[in-house]
Formats: sequence, C-alpha cells, structure tokens
Amino acid sequence: MGQPPVEKGEPPAILHGRNPHDGEAPTAGGTNSLSPITNHGGPVMSGTITAYVIWYGNWNQGNGTDTPAGQQIVRDFLSNVGNSPYFSINTTYPGVSGLVLRGAEYTDTGSQGTRLTDSKVKAVVSNAITKGLLPNDTNGVYFVLTSSNVSESSGFCSRYCGWHTYGTISSSNIKYSFVGNASRCLNGCAAQTISPNGNAGVDGMISVIAHELEEAATDPNLNAWYDSSGAENADKCAWTFGSTLTLLPSGAYYNMTLGSRNYLIQRNLDATNSKCYVSLHGPQ
Ligand SMILES: [Zn+2]
Repeated sequence: MGQPPVEKGEPPAILHGRNPHDGEAPTAGGTNSLSPITNHGGPVMSGTITAYVIWYGNWNQGNGTDTPAGQQIVRDFLSNVGNSPYFSINTTYPGVSGLVLRGAEYTDTGSQGTRLTDSKVKAVVSNAITKGLLPNDTNGVYFVLTSSNVSESSGFCSRYCGWHTYGTISSSNIKYSFVGNASRCLNGCAAQTISPNGNAGVDGMISVIAHELEEAATDPNLNAWYDSSGAENADKCAWTFGSTLTLLPSGAYYNMTLGSRNYLIQRNLDATNSKCYVSLHGPQ
C-alpha cells in the first residue's frame, strides 16, 4: 500500500490492504527479487520490542470468534514470535534485533463506542497509558484489537485490515496499531475461512498483527524503510504465504509452527535481496 504523507500524530499511516485473492487457496507468491526497499534516514526499533494488547469491545461473546479462546491464540503468537525464524527476517534491517516480548494487556469494553475513528483508536491507547493501565513504553507497539462488532470508519474491511502509526501520548513517541477481528469480513481480511486454530477471524488477525509488528519495527516513525512507492517491508509480501503451505485434515492451511500452534502468516521481505521469505535464510 502507498504511504500517504502523514503529519506527526495523524493516523492512519500505513494501511494493510485487503486480500486480493479472495476465495482461493492461500497464495504461495513469487521468489524473485522485488523492487528494492531503502532506508530514508529514520530510526528503526532497536533492542527488545514489547507488544501490548488492548482488547477493545466485547471479547466474551458466544459467536465462536470474539472469545477467551480466541484471545489465547493472540497471546500465544505474541509470546512465541520474538526471535522466531519468521520474525528474524527483520534482523536484515540494521539495528532490528528480532526480539519481541509479550507485554501487559488491558481490556477496554467500549469507552469510544462500537464505531471507531482513527482519532478514537488513538484515544483508546492514550487512555490506557495516561491512566497507568499500561506502561508508557517508547519501545512498545500497542495493538488495539477490536471484536467483530466494532467498525473503524476510515476503512476497516473496505480499504485495509489493519494499520500502524505513531503519535505523542504523555509526551512520549508511542507506536500503535489497529487490527480488527477478520471475522467481520473474512473474504477481505483472512486468507481462508477454515483456520489452523479453529477461529478464522482471529487466525486472520494473526497474519495482520505480524505484518503491522514488522512494519512498526522497521518503520516506526514512517521515515525509515519503504520502497519508492511507499510500501513497507510487509506490504511487499502481503497475502503471500510461501512454499511451506501444509493442508491439515480440517481443510486449513498453515505455513509455520510457533510454540505449540500452527499459523498461516504472510511472508516478509529480506532487506538484503528484496525477496519474500517464510523464515530467515529459509524457504521462500
Ligand atoms: Zn502494511
């Protein structure tokens, strides 16, 4: 996706586009070098990145997706993605360590209503930090993860599946991201309707969370790594899942195992050769 000019503190910044392969099996994607991604002088996130989660809306529903079991899929992913062969692809961007910790989480059952705007997403993050419900951490990425009954008026499901940006909160440069439950629009924001962890909406979110996390790591202030058309690392490999696709008896595909779970997660770009990979120096 292109990178629109963004004034400091005005989201949305980088939008993760919808799945262009609606209704098909997950796409492996190509193995050639893509147009180069370059550093525009801004910093990356160095050292250990802490991923904080704000569960927004109602995550205790009987709909099979906005559930405590669904939340656990996200926790398990964030607990195991750091230093994984997958996330280590980001270490090809000088200064990025590949280390990610799962940080504290906080539940906001709807302080801003069920129809969010970009500024309301920022308000959700700001409330959590200014009230001391989450730490003020300039090396954190704060994920606002919305339940499927929540909309985002700048284009969730129609223009994007998630986005990341930064803004000043409590005098700190805070990196944050919106990702909505993909069950709101599985055709646009998930690669498959049967998923490895039995929750297509949340499994769809995982790939978007991974995408936004690695973009935040390599382009936290929207002035570091992107290509001539504004595409950040994950944008260049979005909705491609590589050669390690495996079909489970359930009918779900996965392409990597992190901890005890299988996931289907989009590939990411190696900065040294501009090719998309499933794992660092591993299969494409
Ligand atoms: Zn993106």
